[in-house]
Amino acid sequence: MKVAVLVGGVGGARFLMGVKTALGLPEVGPGESEHRISAIVNVGDDIWLHGLRVCPDLDTCMYTLGGGIDTERGWGRTDETWRVKEELAAYGADPDWFGLGDQDVATHLVRSRMLRAGYPLSAVTEALCHRWQPGVRLLPATDERVETHVVIDDPDSGERRAVHFQEWWIRYRAKPAAHSFASVGAEEAKAAPGVVEAIRAADAVLIAPSNPVVSIGTILDVPEVRTALRETSAKVVGLSPIVGGKAVRGMAEACLSAIGVEATAQAVGAHLGARKEGGVLDAWLVHTGDAAEIPGVDVREIPLLMTDTDATAEMARQALAAAGVS
Ligand code: GDP
Ligand code: CA
Repeated sequence: MKVAVLVGGVGGARFLMGVKTALGLPEVGPGESEHRISAIVNVGDDIWLHGLRVCPDLDTCMYTLGGGIDTERGWGRTDETWRVKEELAAYGADPDWFGLGDQDVATHLVRSRMLRAGYPLSAVTEALCHRWQPGVRLLPATDERVETHVVIDDPDSGERRAVHFQEWWIRYRAKPAAHSFASVGAEEAKAAPGVVEAIRAADAVLIAPSNPVVSIGTILDVPEVRTALRETSAKVVGLSPIVGGKAVRGMAEACLSAIGVEATAQAVGAHLGARKEGGVLDAWLVHTGDAAEIPGVDVREIPLLMTDTDATAEMARQALAAAGVS
Protein backbone atom coordinates (compact mmCIF):
# COMPACT_ATOMS: atom_id res chain seq x y z
CA MET A 1 0.00 0.00 0.00
CA LYS A 2 1.15 3.54 -0.74
CA VAL A 3 0.05 6.32 1.58
CA ALA A 4 0.65 10.04 1.13
CA VAL A 5 0.23 12.29 4.16
CA LEU A 6 0.14 16.11 4.22
CA VAL A 7 1.83 17.32 7.40
CA GLY A 8 3.09 20.31 9.36
CA GLY A 9 5.41 20.02 12.34
CA VAL A 10 4.51 18.64 15.75
CA GLY A 11 0.94 17.47 15.02
CA GLY A 12 2.04 16.06 11.68
CA ALA A 13 5.08 14.24 13.06
CA ARG A 14 3.04 12.59 15.80
CA PHE A 15 0.42 11.48 13.34
CA LEU A 16 3.12 10.02 11.07
CA MET A 17 4.28 7.83 13.97
CA GLY A 18 0.72 6.50 14.12
CA VAL A 19 0.62 5.85 10.38
CA LYS A 20 3.93 3.97 10.63
CA THR A 21 2.63 1.85 13.49
CA ALA A 22 -0.64 1.14 11.68
CA LEU A 23 1.35 -0.09 8.67
CA GLY A 24 3.59 -2.36 10.74
CA LEU A 25 6.63 -0.10 10.88
CA PRO A 26 8.36 0.83 14.11
CA GLU A 27 7.16 4.20 15.40
CA VAL A 28 10.73 5.53 15.28
CA GLY A 29 13.42 4.67 12.76
CA PRO A 30 13.40 2.54 9.61
CA GLY A 31 11.92 -0.92 9.26
CA GLU A 32 10.81 -3.51 6.78
CA SER A 33 7.37 -3.09 5.32
CA GLU A 34 5.76 -3.64 1.97
CA HIS A 35 4.02 -0.31 2.53
CA ARG A 36 5.39 3.07 1.60
CA ILE A 37 4.61 6.33 3.33
CA SER A 38 5.35 9.68 1.68
CA ALA A 39 5.00 12.76 3.86
CA ILE A 40 4.43 16.05 2.06
CA VAL A 41 5.76 18.62 4.48
CA ASN A 42 4.95 22.31 4.89
CA VAL A 43 7.81 24.71 4.11
CA GLY A 44 5.96 27.96 4.85
CA ASP A 45 7.65 28.24 8.26
CA ASP A 46 11.14 28.05 6.74
CA ILE A 47 13.36 31.03 7.40
CA TRP A 48 16.90 32.32 6.90
CA LEU A 49 18.50 33.10 10.27
CA HIS A 50 22.12 34.17 10.70
CA GLY A 51 22.82 32.92 7.19
CA LEU A 52 21.31 29.51 7.95
CA ARG A 53 18.25 27.97 6.32
CA VAL A 54 15.99 26.67 9.07
CA CYS A 55 13.11 24.32 8.15
CA PRO A 56 11.14 23.78 11.36
CA ASP A 57 8.48 21.40 10.09
CA LEU A 58 10.84 19.21 8.07
CA ASP A 59 13.19 19.02 11.05
CA THR A 60 10.41 18.25 13.52
CA CYS A 61 9.31 15.35 11.30
CA MET A 62 12.89 14.17 10.73
CA TYR A 63 13.94 14.31 14.39
CA THR A 64 10.65 12.85 15.66
CA LEU A 65 10.64 9.89 13.28
CA GLY A 66 14.40 9.44 13.55
CA GLY A 67 14.46 9.39 17.35
CA GLY A 68 16.28 12.69 17.90
CA ILE A 69 13.43 14.93 19.04
CA ASP A 70 13.10 16.52 22.47
CA THR A 71 9.81 14.86 23.32
CA GLU A 72 8.93 17.31 26.12
CA ARG A 73 9.29 20.40 23.96
CA GLY A 74 8.04 18.70 20.80
CA TRP A 75 10.67 20.46 18.65
CA GLY A 76 14.45 20.57 18.49
CA ARG A 77 17.02 18.01 19.59
CA THR A 78 17.06 15.95 22.73
CA ASP A 79 19.75 16.93 25.30
CA GLU A 80 20.16 20.23 23.52
CA THR A 81 22.54 22.98 24.63
CA TRP A 82 22.32 26.67 23.69
CA ARG A 83 25.90 27.97 23.58
CA VAL A 84 25.67 29.27 20.00
CA LYS A 85 22.47 31.17 20.83
CA GLU A 86 24.16 32.73 23.89
CA GLU A 87 27.18 33.77 21.84
CA LEU A 88 24.95 35.31 19.17
CA ALA A 89 23.11 37.24 21.89
CA ALA A 90 26.45 38.47 23.27
CA TYR A 91 27.13 39.98 19.84
CA GLY A 92 23.67 41.52 19.83
CA ALA A 93 23.01 39.59 16.63
CA ASP A 94 19.41 39.82 15.49
CA PRO A 95 17.06 38.05 15.55
CA ASP A 96 17.51 36.84 19.12
CA TRP A 97 14.06 35.31 19.63
CA PHE A 98 14.47 32.07 17.71
CA GLY A 99 15.51 28.91 19.59
CA LEU A 100 18.61 27.74 17.75
CA GLY A 101 20.10 24.80 19.63
CA ASP A 102 23.74 23.80 19.18
CA GLN A 103 23.00 20.39 17.68
CA ASP A 104 20.26 21.88 15.56
CA VAL A 105 22.75 24.40 14.17
CA ALA A 106 24.73 21.52 12.70
CA THR A 107 21.66 20.42 10.73
CA HIS A 108 21.16 23.97 9.46
CA LEU A 109 24.84 24.27 8.54
CA VAL A 110 24.76 21.10 6.45
CA ARG A 111 21.50 22.14 4.82
CA SER A 112 22.59 25.71 4.06
CA ARG A 113 25.88 24.58 2.60
CA MET A 114 24.15 22.11 0.29
CA LEU A 115 21.55 24.70 -0.76
CA ARG A 116 24.33 27.18 -1.55
CA ALA A 117 26.06 24.49 -3.60
CA GLY A 118 22.91 24.29 -5.70
CA TYR A 119 21.12 21.23 -4.37
CA PRO A 120 17.33 21.60 -4.13
CA LEU A 121 15.72 21.32 -0.70
CA SER A 122 14.23 17.92 -1.57
CA ALA A 123 17.70 16.51 -2.27
CA VAL A 124 19.10 18.14 0.86
CA THR A 125 16.29 16.63 2.94
CA GLU A 126 16.99 13.22 1.48
CA ALA A 127 20.66 13.60 2.38
CA LEU A 128 19.86 14.64 5.97
CA CYS A 129 17.49 11.67 6.24
CA HIS A 130 20.35 9.28 5.44
CA ARG A 131 21.42 9.93 8.98
CA TRP A 132 17.99 10.00 10.63
CA GLN A 133 16.30 7.14 8.78
CA PRO A 134 12.77 8.35 9.53
CA GLY A 135 11.17 5.32 7.85
CA VAL A 136 8.99 7.56 5.67
CA ARG A 137 9.93 9.60 2.63
CA LEU A 138 9.98 13.25 3.71
CA LEU A 139 9.19 15.51 0.77
CA PRO A 140 9.11 19.29 1.09
CA ALA A 141 5.91 20.49 -0.59
CA THR A 142 8.09 22.58 -2.89
CA ASP A 143 11.78 23.22 -3.51
CA GLU A 144 11.06 26.86 -4.09
CA ARG A 145 11.03 29.59 -1.48
CA VAL A 146 7.50 29.80 -0.14
CA GLU A 147 7.11 31.68 3.13
CA THR A 148 4.05 32.43 5.22
CA HIS A 149 3.88 36.13 6.06
CA VAL A 150 1.42 37.68 8.48
CA VAL A 151 0.01 41.20 8.42
CA ILE A 152 -0.13 42.67 11.93
CA ASP A 153 -0.08 46.02 13.70
CA ASP A 154 3.46 46.24 15.03
CA PRO A 155 3.27 46.02 18.86
CA ASP A 156 5.92 48.77 19.22
CA SER A 157 5.21 51.25 16.42
CA GLY A 158 1.54 50.42 15.89
CA GLU A 159 2.27 50.49 12.16
CA ARG A 160 0.68 47.87 9.97
CA ARG A 161 3.33 45.59 8.48
CA ALA A 162 3.91 42.09 7.20
CA VAL A 163 6.22 39.90 9.28
CA HIS A 164 7.51 36.41 8.72
CA PHE A 165 5.25 33.79 10.31
CA GLN A 166 8.01 32.86 12.78
CA GLU A 167 8.27 36.41 14.02
CA TRP A 168 4.53 36.52 14.75
CA TRP A 169 4.40 33.00 16.19
CA ILE A 170 7.56 32.89 18.27
CA ARG A 171 8.61 36.46 18.94
CA TYR A 172 5.09 37.81 19.52
CA ARG A 173 3.43 34.52 20.60
CA ALA A 174 0.64 35.24 18.06
CA LYS A 175 -0.58 38.08 20.36
CA PRO A 176 -1.09 40.87 17.83
CA ALA A 177 -4.17 39.86 15.84
CA ALA A 178 -3.32 38.64 12.35
CA HIS A 179 -5.13 40.69 9.71
CA SER A 180 -4.23 38.24 6.96
CA PHE A 181 -1.78 35.58 5.83
CA ALA A 182 0.10 35.34 2.56
CA SER A 183 1.94 32.30 1.26
CA VAL A 184 4.57 34.38 -0.48
CA GLY A 185 5.83 32.62 -3.60
CA ALA A 186 3.33 29.77 -3.48
CA GLU A 187 1.35 30.69 -6.56
CA GLU A 188 4.39 30.46 -8.84
CA ALA A 189 5.98 27.51 -7.01
CA LYS A 190 6.13 24.04 -8.51
CA ALA A 191 5.67 21.00 -6.31
CA ALA A 192 8.96 19.35 -5.34
CA PRO A 193 9.96 16.22 -7.29
CA GLY A 194 8.00 13.24 -6.03
CA VAL A 195 5.12 15.18 -4.50
CA VAL A 196 2.60 15.02 -7.33
CA GLU A 197 3.67 11.45 -8.09
CA ALA A 198 3.17 10.42 -4.45
CA ILE A 199 -0.34 11.86 -4.39
CA ARG A 200 -1.28 10.35 -7.75
CA ALA A 201 0.13 6.91 -6.98
CA ALA A 202 -1.26 6.77 -3.44
CA ASP A 203 -3.89 4.25 -2.36
CA ALA A 204 -4.88 6.71 0.36
CA VAL A 205 -4.13 10.39 0.92
CA LEU A 206 -4.34 11.59 4.53
CA ILE A 207 -4.35 15.14 5.83
CA ALA A 208 -2.77 15.09 9.29
CA PRO A 209 -4.37 16.99 12.19
CA SER A 210 -1.92 19.83 11.57
CA ASN A 211 -2.57 23.56 11.65
CA PRO A 212 -5.24 24.00 8.96
CA VAL A 213 -4.06 27.48 7.97
CA VAL A 214 -0.29 27.74 8.21
CA SER A 215 0.62 24.06 7.75
CA ILE A 216 -2.05 22.41 5.57
CA GLY A 217 -3.24 25.69 4.02
CA THR A 218 0.26 26.61 2.88
CA ILE A 219 0.84 23.19 1.30
CA LEU A 220 -2.49 23.52 -0.53
CA ASP A 221 -1.46 26.95 -1.80
CA VAL A 222 1.04 25.23 -4.13
CA PRO A 223 -1.22 24.87 -7.19
CA GLU A 224 0.18 21.52 -8.37
CA VAL A 225 -0.46 19.98 -4.96
CA ARG A 226 -4.08 21.09 -4.92
CA THR A 227 -4.58 19.84 -8.48
CA ALA A 228 -3.01 16.48 -7.64
CA LEU A 229 -5.38 16.15 -4.66
CA ARG A 230 -8.34 16.88 -6.91
CA GLU A 231 -7.24 14.38 -9.53
CA THR A 232 -5.92 11.41 -7.54
CA SER A 233 -8.03 8.28 -7.69
CA ALA A 234 -7.28 7.73 -3.97
CA LYS A 235 -9.69 8.98 -1.36
CA VAL A 236 -8.54 12.03 0.61
CA VAL A 237 -9.19 11.81 4.35
CA GLY A 238 -8.59 14.68 6.77
CA LEU A 239 -8.33 14.56 10.58
CA SER A 240 -9.46 17.55 12.61
CA PRO A 241 -6.81 19.38 14.66
CA ILE A 242 -9.67 21.12 16.46
CA VAL A 243 -11.21 19.15 19.31
CA GLY A 244 -14.10 20.51 21.38
CA GLY A 245 -13.79 23.95 19.78
CA LYS A 246 -10.08 24.33 20.57
CA ALA A 247 -6.71 23.47 19.07
CA VAL A 248 -5.36 20.49 20.99
CA ARG A 249 -1.96 22.18 21.29
CA GLY A 250 -0.66 25.50 20.13
CA MET A 251 -2.41 28.58 18.84
CA ALA A 252 -4.23 27.49 15.68
CA GLU A 253 -7.32 29.47 16.77
CA ALA A 254 -5.39 32.69 16.20
CA CYS A 255 -4.77 31.61 12.60
CA LEU A 256 -8.35 30.54 11.99
CA SER A 257 -9.85 33.77 13.29
CA ALA A 258 -7.63 35.74 10.88
CA ILE A 259 -9.17 33.95 7.91
CA GLY A 260 -12.69 34.14 9.33
CA VAL A 261 -13.08 30.45 10.09
CA GLU A 262 -14.51 29.37 13.43
CA ALA A 263 -12.39 27.07 15.59
CA THR A 264 -14.66 24.07 15.26
CA ALA A 265 -14.25 20.75 13.49
CA GLN A 266 -17.31 21.64 11.43
CA ALA A 267 -15.95 24.98 10.22
CA VAL A 268 -12.46 23.66 9.47
CA GLY A 269 -13.88 20.71 7.55
CA ALA A 270 -16.17 23.02 5.58
CA HIS A 271 -13.20 25.31 4.91
CA LEU A 272 -11.19 22.42 3.43
CA GLY A 273 -14.34 21.51 1.52
CA ALA A 274 -15.71 18.52 -0.32
CA ARG A 275 -13.64 17.30 -3.24
CA LYS A 276 -16.84 17.12 -5.25
CA GLU A 277 -17.36 20.84 -4.65
CA GLY A 278 -13.85 21.97 -5.54
CA GLY A 279 -12.38 21.32 -2.08
CA VAL A 280 -10.02 18.54 -1.03
CA LEU A 281 -11.91 16.16 1.27
CA ASP A 282 -13.69 12.87 0.69
CA ALA A 283 -13.84 12.10 4.40
CA TRP A 284 -13.36 14.17 7.56
CA LEU A 285 -12.63 12.61 10.93
CA VAL A 286 -13.78 14.60 13.95
CA HIS A 287 -13.32 13.88 17.63
CA THR A 288 -16.03 11.94 19.48
CA GLY A 289 -18.77 14.42 20.33
CA ASP A 290 -17.75 16.97 17.68
CA ALA A 291 -20.57 16.65 15.20
CA ALA A 292 -20.07 17.95 11.67
CA GLU A 293 -22.10 17.85 8.51
CA ILE A 294 -20.48 18.74 5.22
CA PRO A 295 -22.37 17.89 2.03
CA GLY A 296 -20.35 15.46 -0.07
CA VAL A 297 -18.00 14.51 2.79
CA ASP A 298 -18.12 11.26 4.77
CA VAL A 299 -17.85 12.57 8.36
CA ARG A 300 -16.88 10.08 11.06
CA GLU A 301 -16.61 10.63 14.80
CA ILE A 302 -13.70 8.85 16.48
CA PRO A 303 -11.28 9.64 19.33
CA LEU A 304 -8.69 12.05 17.91
CA LEU A 305 -6.30 12.60 20.80
CA MET A 306 -2.74 11.48 20.09
CA THR A 307 -2.03 10.60 23.71
CA ASP A 308 0.10 7.53 23.00
CA THR A 309 1.20 5.16 20.25
CA ASP A 310 -1.92 3.00 20.38
CA ALA A 311 -4.34 5.92 20.25
CA THR A 312 -2.44 7.54 17.38
CA ALA A 313 -2.15 4.27 15.42
CA GLU A 314 -5.89 3.73 15.85
CA MET A 315 -6.53 7.19 14.37
CA ALA A 316 -4.39 6.22 11.37
CA ARG A 317 -6.26 2.90 11.00
CA GLN A 318 -9.60 4.69 11.05
CA ALA A 319 -8.34 7.18 8.48
CA LEU A 320 -7.21 4.32 6.20
CA ALA A 321 -10.59 2.65 6.71
CA ALA A 322 -12.34 5.87 5.71
CA ALA A 323 -10.14 5.87 2.60
CA GLY A 324 -11.40 2.35 1.91
CA VAL A 325 -8.02 0.65 2.04
CA SER A 326 -7.75 -1.17 5.35
P1 GDP B 1 3.43 22.78 14.03
O1 GDP B 1 3.86 23.00 12.61
O2 GDP B 1 4.52 22.33 14.92
O3 GDP B 1 2.59 23.88 14.57
O4 GDP B 1 2.51 21.51 13.98
P2 GDP B 1 1.31 21.07 13.07
O5 GDP B 1 0.80 22.15 12.18
O6 GDP B 1 1.68 19.78 12.43
O7 GDP B 1 0.25 20.70 14.16
C1 GDP B 1 -0.32 21.66 15.01
C2 GDP B 1 -1.75 21.27 15.21
O8 GDP B 1 -1.81 19.93 15.71
C3 GDP B 1 -2.49 22.12 16.20
O9 GDP B 1 -3.47 22.85 15.51
C4 GDP B 1 -3.13 21.12 17.17
O10 GDP B 1 -4.48 21.41 17.40
C5 GDP B 1 -2.99 19.81 16.46
N1 GDP B 1 -2.80 18.70 17.39
C6 GDP B 1 -1.78 18.52 18.25
N2 GDP B 1 -1.97 17.41 19.00
C7 GDP B 1 -3.15 16.88 18.58
C8 GDP B 1 -3.91 15.73 18.97
O11 GDP B 1 -3.54 14.96 19.86
N3 GDP B 1 -5.09 15.51 18.30
C9 GDP B 1 -5.54 16.34 17.32
N4 GDP B 1 -6.70 16.04 16.72
N5 GDP B 1 -4.84 17.43 16.93
C10 GDP B 1 -3.68 17.69 17.55
CA1 CA C 1 4.94 24.57 11.57
